[in-house]
Amino acid sequence: MASGKIANVLIVGGGLAGMTLATALVRGGIHVDLIELQPRWNVLGVGISVQGPTLRALKTIGLLDQCIDAGFGYTQVVDCDQEGKVFGIVDLPRLLGPDYPSCIGMMRPALHNVLCGAMTAEGVMPRFGLTVDALHDNGDAVDVTFSDGTRGRYDLVVGADGAYSKVRTLIFGASPKPEYTGQAVWRAMVPRPSNVAARNAYYGPHHKAGFNPVSRDEMYVYLVQNVTGDPWLAPEEWPVVMRELLSDFGGYIGEIRETITDPARIVYRPVERLLLPSPWHRGRTVLIGDAVHTAPPQLASGAAIAIEDAIVLAEMLHLDRPCGEILDGFVARRYERCQLVVENSYRLGEWEKNPEMPGADPVGLQSRSFMALAKPI
Ligand SMILES: Cc1cc2nc3c(=O)[nH]c(=O)nc-3n(C[C@H](O)[C@H](O)[C@H](O)COP(=O)(O)OP(=O)(O)OC[C@H]3O[C@@H](n4cnc5c(N)ncnc54)[C@H](O)[C@@H]3O)c2cc1C
Repeated sequence: MASGKIANVLIVGGGLAGMTLATALVRGGIHVDLIELQPRWNVLGVGISVQGPTLRALKTIGLLDQCIDAGFGYTQVVDCDQEGKVFGIVDLPRLLGPDYPSCIGMMRPALHNVLCGAMTAEGVMPRFGLTVDALHDNGDAVDVTFSDGTRGRYDLVVGADGAYSKVRTLIFGASPKPEYTGQAVWRAMVPRPSNVAARNAYYGPHHKAGFNPVSRDEMYVYLVQNVTGDPWLAPEEWPVVMRELLSDFGGYIGEIRETITDPARIVYRPVERLLLPSPWHRGRTVLIGDAVHTAPPQLASGAAIAIEDAIVLAEMLHLDRPCGEILDGFVARRYERCQLVVENSYRLGEWEKNPEMPGADPVGLQSRSFMALAKPI
């Protein structure tokens, strides 16, 4: 494969990974085109946990303080029984020093706005309602045919197009796909009682639930449901089903359960996982984020590893090395860490489904995982 510095990049997908990569590349002098399948931004109005490693990665592109201002900071995960009685506390490492929290909860649209604001300030304007139809790699460049019939030539194409990545299919064929894990996640926005100041997990007889503050006034309540078969449900059914599933729980969950009434304030998602074996690239096309590692939400670290991928790839692309060498080095640097998140999240989910499983130690595994993720990327 030819060498020569990468000067222009096509990013497919304007999610967390794609927008972070666009900003980091343009700041290093690389031209970026970004395409997004949706006709306009369409971000779920629910909360997200932004962990210490994510904050650390966002700091490298100067977005830490904006995220802190837009979110709610905390430093612990409090593990409780179904009545809210505490049985374990996981201290989240403070990766950014004593002046910053370990982690923040924030609304997804708020995180989107920070990343999108940074990207557009660098002059990257997404082309909406567009995808790639074909990629032809001639060794020195990739010739791209877009879904509107236009064409482009790029030194590198990055598939940041999520769990059902089209770019993945274009370079590796039909398989593999994310697999359903036997769990579904419910999240609903509710008012935050003033003394809720950490992420809480309640372990119930059938399911795990909890809550996570995202602002001074709001938090989200979540429930991880163990459910076999096809777990699709119509949105109008969501409030009743969620309240019913939460009826096992006391504590704060019991107190706020009846306020869950609006389907528009609920997000319901079957949980999937995927870890694409190495390599994550073919020729001059590489995949990042959920396109290569779709993690169950137990460690709340899917966004962390997606954003980290973008930061690491940008750092490596600014080196004057042959493209193949850069992409091999990128995957080598990222694989183990992303594998840890996908596999440990999955194992935590398996223990939630079957708490009697020999060796089940959710508090221990969470602590070990967060310590491992605290290491530099
Ligand atoms: C229920 C749930 C809760 C979660 N909670 C957390 C949490 O609390 N903390 C955390 O860190 N992570 C969490 N995650 C994981 C996190 O949301 C993902 O890991 C993260 O969003 C991945 O970012 P991404 O940019 O790789 O992909 P995505 O966010 O999926 O973005 C992909 C983008 O590509 C676009 N696209 C798709 N196909 C194409 C195409 N063919 N052409 C062009 N564009 C395309 C999409 O429209 C989208 O804009 C959660 C996930 C789920 C499902």
